Amino acid sequence: MQNPFENAMEQLDKVAKIKNFDASFIERFRRPDRDIRISIPVKMDNGNIKIFEGYRVEYNNALGPYKGGIRYHKDTEINEVKALAFWMSIKCAVAGIPMGGGKGGITVDPKDLSKGELERLSRGWVKKLADILGPKKDVPAPDVNTTPEIMDWMSDEYEKITGDKTRATFTGKPIEKGGSEGRGPATGLGGFYVFDSLRAQLGLPEKCKVVVQGFGNVGLNAAEIFIKHGHSVIAISDSKGGVYNPNGLDLKKLVEHKKITGSLSGFTACKDISNEELLEIECDLLVPAAYENQITTKNANKIRTKVVLELANGPVTPGADEILFKKGIPIIPDVLANSGGVTVSYFEWDQNLKGEHWTEKEVFNKLRPMMHDAAQKVFENGKKYSTDLRRGAFILALERIEEKI
Ligand code: NAD
Repeated sequence: MQNPFENAMEQLDKVAKIKNFDASFIERFRRPDRDIRISIPVKMDNGNIKIFEGYRVEYNNALGPYKGGIRYHKDTEINEVKALAFWMSIKCAVAGIPMGGGKGGITVDPKDLSKGELERLSRGWVKKLADILGPKKDVPAPDVNTTPEIMDWMSDEYEKITGDKTRATFTGKPIEKGGSEGRGPATGLGGFYVFDSLRAQLGLPEKCKVVVQGFGNVGLNAAEIFIKHGHSVIAISDSKGGVYNPNGLDLKKLVEHKKITGSLSGFTACKDISNEELLEIECDLLVPAAYENQITTKNANKIRTKVVLELANGPVTPGADEILFKKGIPIIPDVLANSGGVTVSYFEWDQNLKGEHWTEKEVFNKLRPMMHDAAQKVFENGKKYSTDLRRGAFILALERIEEKI
C-alpha cells in the first residue's frame, strides 16, 4: 500500500511546478497545523478495558473552521488521516465553502464491536478531543464506517461536556437530531452534478455506460442517481467482488439480493467479477467509490474507460495519474467530484447556527449551482495551464487559500 500522505505531497509538488506559488506558502502547506494521536480506553462487554488508537489532524483553517470526517477502519493510521485532512483543505476551497481541512479516525474494525462498545468508543474519542472541537474551531463529520447514529452520540457527548446546544460541532447527524435533509445522497449527487456539468466538454455521450466500485453510502447512491438520470450502470462491486451485465443492472433487485444472500455474487443475468476485473471493464465512466490506491501503475494501462469520476478519496495514485493522462483519459478529481458531501455538511452547520431547517429541494437547489461553478472553474484552469483537472483544481484551491493565509 502506498503512503497516502506521500501521494498527496507528490500532487502538491506537481502543482507547484506549474504555477509559481510563493515557496514559503507551499512549504507551510506541506505540514498540518497539528496532528493529534489519542489513546481511548473502552470498557468492553466482558468487563476488560481495551485501548484504541485515535486521531485528529487539523490541516489548515485559512478559510474557516477545520472540517472533515472521522474514519473507523482497521487500517486507519496517521499518514492516511493526514492525507485525508490535506485533501479536505483543498476540497473545501475548490467547493467555495468557508471551511478549512481536517480529518479524524480510529484504528478499529467496527464489526468486531457490540453496539454498546461502539458507542463508548465514539464518546471516548470526543472526551479526549472536546477542547479542540467546536462550531467555530473544528467540525467533524462521518466518513467510512461512521454513521448518523455515531455522529449523534458524539454530538450528545460534546453537548454534555461543553454545554453547547447548537449541535453545530458535528455534521452528518440524523435529521431529527439537527441533521440536514439531503446529506445521505449528497456526495453521490454532487458527483453527478459535477459529471453533468462537464459531460459534453469531456466528449461523453448523453447516455453513459457507468461502472461503480463500492456499494456503500457513496457508491450505491451514485449508482441510483445515474440510473435515475437515464444512464446505465453495467457493473458494481463491494469489498468481496462485483457483478457485470453489459446491458445494465437492475439495482433495486440487486440491493434485495444482497440483503438476502449477504453478497452481490450470483445475481440474475450477471457475471461475477473481481474488483480488479471491474476496474478494467470498457465503459464511458468509471466511478471508484470505495477506498484509496485502487488504480495504480500496475493496472492503469489496462483501464478502458473514457473518463474517471473519483468519488472515493485518493483512488488513483500519482503514478497512475500520469499514465491515464498520457492515454487521454481525463480524471475528474476527488477534491472536486466528491465535494458535494462536505458542501451539504456546511449547509447543516449553517442551518444549526441559524436555527433553520431547509427542505431537501432547497438543499439540492443550493448544491447544484455550487458544483457547476466549481466544475467549470476547474475545467477553465485545466485549459489555462494546459494541465489535467486535478492540477486545475489544486491551483484554484491554493490560490483561494494563499489569499487568506
Ligand atoms: P462506506 O463504508 O459506506 O462504503 C464503502 C464501500 O466500499 C462498501 O460497500 C465496501 O464493501 C466497499 N469496499 C471496500 N473495499 C473495497 C474494495 N477493495 N473494492 C470495492 N469495494 C470495496 O463508505 P462511503 O461513505 O461510501 O465512502 C466511500 C469513499 O468515499 C471513501 O473513500 C470516502 O472517504 C469517500 N467519501 C465519502 C463521503 C461521504 O459523504 N460518505 C464524502 C466524500 C468522500
